[in-house]
Amino acid sequence: MGRLLLILAIVIAVVWLLRRALAGPRKQASGESPGAAGGDLVSCAHCGVNLPKTEARSAGGRYYCSEEHWRAGPREG
Ligand SMILES: [Zn+2]
Repeated sequence: MGRLLLILAIVIAVVWLLRRALAGPRKQASGESPGAAGGDLVSCAHCGVNLPKTEARSAGGRYYCSEEHWRAGPREG
């Protein structure tokens, strides 16, 4: 009985390796850090989280991560 399971495991492993090999050369597509391509990183004036400048909302020379924080304005204190 043990041999049957072993053969089954080997077959599954071979199929898995073949499928991986066929779907193979896509790994190069995943680039480096996505933030580097998008340009500058800015930090939210309210909560301090870093985000790409293109996704930030700006007001009065400050940047915010979301409309909620943009409305709330810079954190005081
Ligand atoms: Zn924020």
